[in-house]
Amino acid sequence: MITAKSYAVQSHTAKFAPHPIQRRDLRPNDVHISISHCGICHSDLHTARGEWQGTTYPCVPGHEIVGKVVAVGPKVTGFKNDDYVGVGCIVDSCQDCPSCAEGLEQYCQKGFIGTYNSKDKQTGENTLGGYSDQIVVDEKFVLRMPENLDPKKAAPLLCAGITLWSPLRHWGAGKGKKVGINGLGGLGHMGVKLAHALGAHVVLFTTSEGKREDAKRLGADEVVISKNKDEMAKHANTFDLIVDTVSAPHELDTGIGLLKRDGTYVMVGASPENHPPLNHWPFILGRRSFAGSLIGGIKETQEMLDFCGEHNIVSETEVVAIQQIEEAYTRMAKSDVKYRFVIDMASINK
Ligand code: NAP
Ligand code: ZN
Repeated sequence: MITAKSYAVQSHTAKFAPHPIQRRDLRPNDVHISISHCGICHSDLHTARGEWQGTTYPCVPGHEIVGKVVAVGPKVTGFKNDDYVGVGCIVDSCQDCPSCAEGLEQYCQKGFIGTYNSKDKQTGENTLGGYSDQIVVDEKFVLRMPENLDPKKAAPLLCAGITLWSPLRHWGAGKGKKVGINGLGGLGHMGVKLAHALGAHVVLFTTSEGKREDAKRLGADEVVISKNKDEMAKHANTFDLIVDTVSAPHELDTGIGLLKRDGTYVMVGASPENHPPLNHWPFILGRRSFAGSLIGGIKETQEMLDFCGEHNIVSETEVVAIQQIEEAYTRMAKSDVKYRFVIDMASINK
């Protein structure tokens, strides 16, 4: 086994603390990665704090991982030592069901194996994520990082980036389309950047007046304060697509009313509590749809990374030491981050 350092929580009320862990000995197709940076996703907080139920402790979150390859198993063909690589939210899947066959491992019908808080298929052990200095992952689930993307800014592409890229592509965001992004956090700011780069007219919905100028700088054509009914009403019946990244329960009918006929409202925010019930009339009267979307498959994640490499798209990050996770969580819960915390893993040795 490989001994690694990590930061873990031991219960939903515990604070993060150093926690030595074992990574598995390399299987033939495994890649051993030295982690340089790991983003802090709101899903990490929901999981560590037990907000979604079903967290196994000790829990080591982290699924926005970048680093360098330090060893490969004998059957690895796609990677070699020193390659700049990434690992996102998925480390395994059945690779047999129709979803896996289509490269949509996130919808694996037997359940994908998450980078953390899942059961390893072979050992049944709880998977441990990227708040750690090392990880071992099957090469099928390792991504090639474009060399021009700075690791401390590129790490969030592995979850925040792909979680927005997948619905934007699936629902055809691009030239001639009006696309709304609700919430300017880690996911939302990547949604603004990606939808803008795809050529859509982008409108950012936020509850934070103070984020208005930033949103424009990041690529929003217009910014709407979502709590202001008059501002919202100006956009009634005009959107092709709205992607909602908000992490807490909120009223949805107003936003759905902004869709034009046949428009789609896609939920990616994973609030632990239900939203208020929906009014069904806007769906009937306007043939509108309500949908959800989960991260993205490995193939589309690589496509997104290559697109970001070509267009020089990275996340706006605030780099923190691993000893600052608690502070980062407190600020993230208050929507006070511009726009993603990323852990500099060198700090784990302090
Ligand atoms: P984040 O950085 O904390 O951003 C969430 C944003 O939502 C905040 O910045 C804030 O934006 C807005 N917000 C928060 N509380 C709100 C409230 N009570 N009412 C209205 N707006 C509120 O979180 P994130 O990392 O982007 O993640 C967002 C959500 O997506 C989380 O629930 C996470 O678990 C989930 N997620 C889902 C997937 C998926 O595959 N579907 C993948 C990753 C994460 P403003 O200040 O602009 O209003
Ligand atoms: Zn995430």
